[in-house]
Amino acid sequence: MNQALRMGTLGAADSAATAGAFLTIDLGAVRENYRRLKAQLGAARCAGVVKADGYGLGASHVARALMGEGCTTFFVAHVGEGIALRAAIGPDPVIYVLNGLPPRAEPDALAAGLVPVLNSIGQLSAWRKMAATAGHALPAALQVDSGMSRLGMSAAEVEAVAADPATLEGIELLLVMSHLACADEADHVANDAQRLEFDRLRALLPAVPASLANSSGIFLNSAYHHQLARPGAALYGINPTPGQENPMLPVIRLQAKVIQTRTVEKGVGIGYGHRSIAQDPTRLATISLGYADGWHRQAGASARFKGMILPFIGRVSMDSIILDISTLPEGALKEGDLVDLINAEQTIDDVAPSYGSIAYEVLTSLGHRFHRIHIGA
Ligand SMILES: *Cc1c(COP(=O)(O)O)cnc(C)c1O
Repeated sequence: MNQALRMGTLGAADSAATAGAFLTIDLGAVRENYRRLKAQLGAARCAGVVKADGYGLGASHVARALMGEGCTTFFVAHVGEGIALRAAIGPDPVIYVLNGLPPRAEPDALAAGLVPVLNSIGQLSAWRKMAATAGHALPAALQVDSGMSRLGMSAAEVEAVAADPATLEGIELLLVMSHLACADEADHVANDAQRLEFDRLRALLPAVPASLANSSGIFLNSAYHHQLARPGAALYGINPTPGQENPMLPVIRLQAKVIQTRTVEKGVGIGYGHRSIAQDPTRLATISLGYADGWHRQAGASARFKGMILPFIGRVSMDSIILDISTLPEGALKEGDLVDLINAEQTIDDVAPSYGSIAYEVLTSLGHRFHRIHIGA
């Protein structure tokens, strides 16, 4: 599988010897994070959100690790992600498709045994027609919009469905769900408002399990847990409680290889646009990772080597970044050595502000050239 994945997504050049950078994904930490979320949830069940290829870390690896913890329910965003996940994890787990069904995707979703999250009356009737064609009931989740205005049926649509039971004929309703807009701000007034609206709308529908909480929602309070929680970020080590200590374990380590080192004289321009000029004789190391690998061009930061902080200097290039290594003893960092860009000391949450973004985007931006190593399976 590893070899096939490598050949499929990275090309034959990916090996420890030839790769420019390494992404190590600790599946043992993912499993521990799942156990911590389950402990926080108590009686409610815990799914795993593995959309966007498991936030870039490998959906099939993550899902199989979570199955080892007893997880039987997964969420992806796209039908295609669901089809790939089904092939990787076998027929038994429930796979929900959050973005629902684009027109004409119904047969593919059915063939892969996916459960669409139906977000509109139109999607509901298309799935009902599919059930009629198939000759048996088809499973589905309904999403209601409780106040995020992104996806899900409006209150009027929910009332229309509630008023006409025929709209659910041939649908085996497994779940009613909604999504919180402000769960990462524990004090935001929208949280309670959305929870109350969700509880009002689901009371109009058949009594099936309900799901509202994402990672941060799990940490609001137990009124948000319902029967099933849908964490993604927290599984991958992103802090679900911003401003407080991260209750999760870090999952990834990102390391880049040194390609070349040099010393430049005072006054010499460094990198594209000569955005930096050496203020003194400066020792530099160029590492094999750049914006094509998802390290945004505007994102400053530093690398680490044996506990020393090595600041970026000059612009981030497509395939490389220049580090100021003047604080290291001469010869301490050589061609082929690895420096850390993300690890337990400099986490994805730590580097996100320099992206002008959030840790979610740091993770999902990480590119396809890394030599990916899954440990702790
Ligand atoms: C992405 C997503 C989740 C997971 O959210 P996290 O904040 O990563 O835990 C849950 N539900 C829906 C609808 C989502 O789109």
